Amino acid sequence: MKKKYLFPFFFVALFLGCRSETKEGKMLSVTIEPQRYFLENIVGDSYKINTIVPAGVSPETYEPTPAMMMKLAKSAIFFKVGFLGFENAWAERLKKNNPDVKIVNCSERIELIYGEHHHATGKSEEEDEHTLLPDPHVWSSPKTARIFAENMYRALITSDPQNEEFYREKFSELIEKIDRTDSIITQLLMDIPSRSFIIYHPALSYLARDYGLKQYSIEFEGKNPSPAQMKALIDIARKEGINVVFVQQGFDTKNAIVVANEIGAKVYRINPLAYEWDKELIRIAHILAGK
Ligand SMILES: [Zn+2]
Repeated sequence: MKKKYLFPFFFVALFLGCRSETKEGKMLSVTIEPQRYFLENIVGDSYKINTIVPAGVSPETYEPTPAMMMKLAKSAIFFKVGFLGFENAWAERLKKNNPDVKIVNCSERIELIYGEHHHATGKSEEEDEHTLLPDPHVWSSPKTARIFAENMYRALITSDPQNEEFYREKFSELIEKIDRTDSIITQLLMDIPSRSFIIYHPALSYLARDYGLKQYSIEFEGKNPSPAQMKALIDIARKEGINVVFVQQGFDTKNAIVVANEIGAKVYRINPLAYEWDKELIRIAHILAGK
């Protein structure tokens, strides 16, 4: 009787054995923590996942260290967000020196928002004015995150087709999780005190577009606002009954507090770069909903 069961067990062990071999040898790199969340949900522990930008650091001004470049070079795939900070310059360098590393743009097929997002790039103001850059924060809305995660999944099954079935099953669970997050947020934002909010750095443009909200940033073209710009913002905030001011880690909070005090709003610290992507977005929706 017992012998009968040995056979399937042997195969399971063999199968698992193969997978843990992959784990030892292969690494995947992502730019930011929310990407690690999506990827871990798809691959489980089949791969080691390396996040390039450390927690608490702005990916928009971060420059990878040579040690990080080494890790990147050892990765099977580099999943870039798409249009974030160092990514494209480093992807070019990687392509030249390590053509074996597959580079995936996770923003592909996403309908991008152009022009409202600015960074202090070190370029002259004139140059800045004439370049319409895509807003890179595509992971901040469940509707765009769905495509974002699918881009990761597609790249994975192309590069590792033997495990396609395993990834497909996990990916469909991830999509369910994203859809659940989407419906929770939709529900929360249905009937709220004000559809407008203020944020220091405009990191929630896609959430605003996809859920009928209006985002106003304190930062003006990647820089601190002038007194006239502050006044204009305060006027808008009063007119639109704004009661939420978001600030992010790594950005100035002084002006946010000034604006909030002027309009009687509250300042909320958020982290759109949190690993727990779903929890943070739901928390943001709760704040906007005032409940
Ligand atoms: Zn940004």
